[in-house]
Amino acid sequence: MKTDKSNLLYETIRSALGHVEEFVEEGVAPIKRLQSDENKTPPALGLIHDQLEGCTRCPLHEQRTQIVFGDGDPNANLMFIGEGPGEKEDLLGLPFVGRAGELLTKMIENGLGITRKEVYICNIVKCRPPKNRTPTPTEVGTCRTFLDSQIEAVSPKTIVTLGKPASSLLLGKDIAITKVRGTWHEYRGIPVMPTLHPAFVLRQYTEQNRRLVWQDLKAALAKSRERSV
Ligand code: SF4
Repeated sequence: MKTDKSNLLYETIRSALGHVEEFVEEGVAPIKRLQSDENKTPPALGLIHDQLEGCTRCPLHEQRTQIVFGDGDPNANLMFIGEGPGEKEDLLGLPFVGRAGELLTKMIENGLGITRKEVYICNIVKCRPPKNRTPTPTEVGTCRTFLDSQIEAVSPKTIVTLGKPASSLLLGKDIAITKVRGTWHEYRGIPVMPTLHPAFVLRQYTEQNRRLVWQDLKAALAKSRERSV
């Protein structure tokens, strides 16, 4: 557990407010201003979650069942970011709980020897794209403010991006996941390890793909522990 989290929480909220103001400047539907109290520790993720309630800022709200915000330890050292909720996630309101999620959970718990509750998991868009299509750049661009606020609130030591869309977003360029997986990058000062999406691994369930992801996750866990000392 990090010792500097409580000191960072107020700054996190201030930063989240900065993102909200960017939204307003860009003409996106304005959202309610947060009420902060410098004498209290603000529940950062909870406030960001409240801001998303009933969100209709992009077309993905039209067919969703519910917003899938995130899951796990709000102070996690290791954060996983995927593309968007699938069918089961949309129904249950939790990220990575379908078949791909079961594989991810198995890789975390059996492969890394830590529990899923010890990490934080979310997606770059919080509403299910119809028929699991890739979210459009506009949808990703609209929702990323909330992802950035989540990253700031959790303040992980290491991020693992799952698949091409999440990796491309954080690396700031269109990438080929098979080329960049297993290499270190950085987002807002946080080391980022891109790896294959578990849905891809399920589709191409080879020993090699499973080994590559395991290697990437082990490297990410080791880096998060190094940076926690
Ligand atoms: S994907 Fe994000 S921005 Fe779009 S409606 Fe859902 S919560 Fe709002």
